[in-house]
Amino acid sequence: MSRKIRWPDGRAFAFTVFDDTDRATAENIREVYAFLKDLGMFTTKSVWPIRGKETPRIGGATCDDGDYCDFVRRLHAEGFEIGFHNATFHSSCREDTIRGLDTFARYFGHDPATHANHADNAEAIYWGEDRLSGMYRAGYNLLTQFRNRGRFRGHREGDPCFWGDVCKSRIKYVRNFVYSEMNTLRLCPFMPYHDPQRPYVNYWFASSEGPEVGAFNGCVAEAAQDRLEAEGGACIMYTHFAYGFQEGRDLQPRFERLLRRLAGKNGWFVPVSRLLDFLLEHNGRNVITDRERASLERRWLFNKVFRGTS
Ligand SMILES: [Zn+2]
Repeated sequence: MSRKIRWPDGRAFAFTVFDDTDRATAENIREVYAFLKDLGMFTTKSVWPIRGKETPRIGGATCDDGDYCDFVRRLHAEGFEIGFHNATFHSSCREDTIRGLDTFARYFGHDPATHANHADNAEAIYWGEDRLSGMYRAGYNLLTQFRNRGRFRGHREGDPCFWGDVCKSRIKYVRNFVYSEMNTLRLCPFMPYHDPQRPYVNYWFASSEGPEVGAFNGCVAEAAQDRLEAEGGACIMYTHFAYGFQEGRDLQPRFERLLRRLAGKNGWFVPVSRLLDFLLEHNGRNVITDRERASLERRWLFNKVFRGTS
């Protein structure tokens, strides 16, 4: 798996972002997207298609907000991918998840290709302890003092939150483990992969973690960019563009400098699902082995213990 990938159009590496929609409004991310468009970096922005009825712990705009919906639809028309971040900013039952997906399809003309679970939504799929197996699950439960035991139930048949079958029939890629290194592909060379122990997800992908602007900048710093290029790797950054990337009307200066530098390189800058489609074609359909799963889980748990990874 260490062989170099021949990226399309003679590109040297691939780079994209999955933008978690937490706290985002049209105003607080507008300049970030204008900038990405100028750079020719077409990434993936997630949405909540419907507004929840309850007060969320972490909220943000939804596609029920007209101006925001117009903004996101314009991004989609420009070439950005729109992904799913559950139906809304709090837990949803099965019917609401389906309504969220139907609403998404109405606005964007198709089902989402990519999904990432929202923080503590009960319908998060294979989340909390169910993200891990065997001794790593036990380690996770000890680490979290069993707080997340049985809490996430999107994959549990018979539960009111169950939507595993819907996920399988409507969504292609779901994000799982995140790591602190920029070259996501180095840590997870077999992505996208299917995990037979988690059958309701067609394919999983990993990401590199930079949840807010400081951590993002740290992950994509100059030396890491140069290494990504030299290794011919692929980076899927997982972040929240509403977390400090834009200061009023201005971009956070170091973020602006780093992305300009990266855009100056011979990279393939396409949305997450386009990148994963290419890898799927290139690698074939990978079914993860027990050994590969253990290596992903071990390194993720290690990151969580020492760095507080999400
Ligand atoms: Zn979220």
